[in-house]
Amino acid sequence: MTDDKPLQPTRIVVIGGGPGGYAAALRAADLGADVTLVERELVGGTCLNRGCIPTKALLSSTEALRKARLGAEYGFSVGQDVVPDFVRMQARKEQIVTQLRDGVTLLLRKRKVKTLAGVGRVAGSGKVEVESSEGVVSLEADRVILASGSEPALPQFFDFSHPSVATSTGLLNLTKIPSSLLIVGGGAIGCEFLSIFVELGSKVTLVEMMPQIVPTEDARLTKQLLGVFRKSGAEVLVKTKVERVAAYSEGSVTVELTGGELVTCEKLLVSIGRSPNTPDLRLETAGVEVDGRGFIKVDENLRTTATGVYAIGDVTGGMLLAHVATHDGIMAAENCLGGTRVRDLHLVPRCIYTSPEVAAVGLSEDQAREEGREPITGTFRMGALGKALAMGESQGFIQVVADQRTDEILGASMMGPHVTDVVHEAAAAMRAGLKTRELADMIHAHPTISEALMEAAADVHGESIHVAR
Ligand code: FAD
Repeated sequence: MTDDKPLQPTRIVVIGGGPGGYAAALRAADLGADVTLVERELVGGTCLNRGCIPTKALLSSTEALRKARLGAEYGFSVGQDVVPDFVRMQARKEQIVTQLRDGVTLLLRKRKVKTLAGVGRVAGSGKVEVESSEGVVSLEADRVILASGSEPALPQFFDFSHPSVATSTGLLNLTKIPSSLLIVGGGAIGCEFLSIFVELGSKVTLVEMMPQIVPTEDARLTKQLLGVFRKSGAEVLVKTKVERVAAYSEGSVTVELTGGELVTCEKLLVSIGRSPNTPDLRLETAGVEVDGRGFIKVDENLRTTATGVYAIGDVTGGMLLAHVATHDGIMAAENCLGGTRVRDLHLVPRCIYTSPEVAAVGLSEDQAREEGREPITGTFRMGALGKALAMGESQGFIQVVADQRTDEILGASMMGPHVTDVVHEAAAAMRAGLKTRELADMIHAHPTISEALMEAAADVHGESIHVAR
């Protein structure tokens, strides 16, 4: 991959205003560049408008619903049946999304980033074209950052024009709770929607073709999650595929699963992966190469194969996460202006916002072994933790994976309340090169969920006083 020397002042055009693109634009503007951000839909991209934020807003509503339903357990009674008001939940979600989007728009305006509505494409060296209903605008650019993100994969197997077949975007825009929901794909997105719709009262079935849900994570962790899902009333079938669509009817779809079972559902969510938003970019014109799956190839500095063109976030494949996109955006902006920052994804926290939450960083025990390490683990159960019990959230555990010889922390996997926050303590410890003994020796506030991490670190050495022996 090549690049020429940065120019001053640098004109940077960013294509795509998601968490990657807007972060790149803000950072580049802070560093003195003349920045134009091109967005074909809404700033904030997938994450803010149809991903991370709307799902978490709905999950907060369903969590509140769950807690209210458990009133008797917590020592209070509710006057009448607790029932979801989906229209109000959706309105709350929209209000949060709008507030955040307005915030991003304000940040861009304050930094004097020029925003251009339209579809951007690379039109040769140093040139970007933006097409909108008003025509085509040409822009000169010293650097281009491609941040066009991804969209739900739409396998031809399903007829997405049928009202019962939905992507994650379609499901987020429902106006009524479906009586039944079949989720195809047990990755993070499928699991989050399971948590939401089970609580809302839909009859939920999830099918995953691999032997475990969330196949990228620790087997023990996902097995517990599977147990939680089944206990919550969802049907979860692993090693199972939709073999064929048996019938599209009015208001429902019927599919045949592996083994011959027929399932009819009001809504069918296809969440089997994401496709890169590259078709509009005219990458060939600019000499930007893509990999076998169509994602843009980048080097460690996020440079593409075309001089002066960088790519960030989902469109580069790998870890399709908002925090990766944002970090990429900041790095790419700095590299466009002469920086030499290197992408390093080995300590990226991976979070699944189910009920209870799941999070991990670094290696699982199996992955450590596959990498030729000699792993040793320490575990602490939420059921033995004061804070978790006080919260009424005793499902789950934290497991720390360490190198038996060096005591280096190789990873941590966790399930339980607020673990999507606790995971950062493990990540920080790994980044600082702490040993499990040092983590175990750090005084942790009591009672906290973080104590489970400390206890798990102590358990690596058989030294957790709260583990029954
Ligand atoms: P995007 O957010 O996809 O933004 C790309 C932008 O580029 C879009 O606004 C698009 O309109 C625009 N665009 C595309 N092509 C062009 C063009 N030619 N011209 C102009 N504009 C263009 N990640 C997490 O980390 N945590 C979560 O909890 C989480 N939850 C999710 C839940 C769901 C349901 C989904 C679908 C995703 C979730 N993600 C989550 C993933 C996260 O949303 C993405 O990783 C993140 O948005 C990627 O950011 P990006 O900037 O690379 O791309």
